[in-house]
Amino acid sequence: MDDCIFCRIAKKDIGAKIVYEDDNVIGFDDISPQAPVHVIIISKKHIVSVDFIDESDADIMTSLMFSFKKIAEIKGIGNNGYRIVSNHKERAGQSVFHLHFHLLGGRDMKWPPG
Ligand code: AMP
Ligand code: ZN
Repeated sequence: MDDCIFCRIAKKDIGAKIVYEDDNVIGFDDISPQAPVHVIIISKKHIVSVDFIDESDADIMTSLMFSFKKIAEIKGIGNNGYRIVSNHKERAGQSVFHLHFHLLGGRDMKWPPG
């Protein structure tokens, strides 16, 4: 989708600090990091959010799930712990309506999240 910022990053139309890429996903540093490590991991396919995935997206979801520990290792935070977050719709705080996960680490995390 031309008007979707994450589709444009996936197509390399606009720049991002890419830290991981495979056939199905791209991980890049968040432009407004909320932790010392804050990586956004997106599906290359435009999917609105986790609530919109279906069975045909199983390979994509597998790639996303396996990307987390690879990116944590690349960023050097696998041993100390990290958090994965995905927001669905405005009330959860979703601002970009293209499936993505936040990988946050490098500091202590609070629970419950706000
Ligand atoms: P959410 O609010 O859960 O939809 O997350 C969207 C995230 O994308 C936010 O943390 C933004 O800071 C981040 N973001 C938006 N535009 C860009 C961009 N061009 N490059 C990197 N991160 C971005
Ligand atoms: Zn998109």
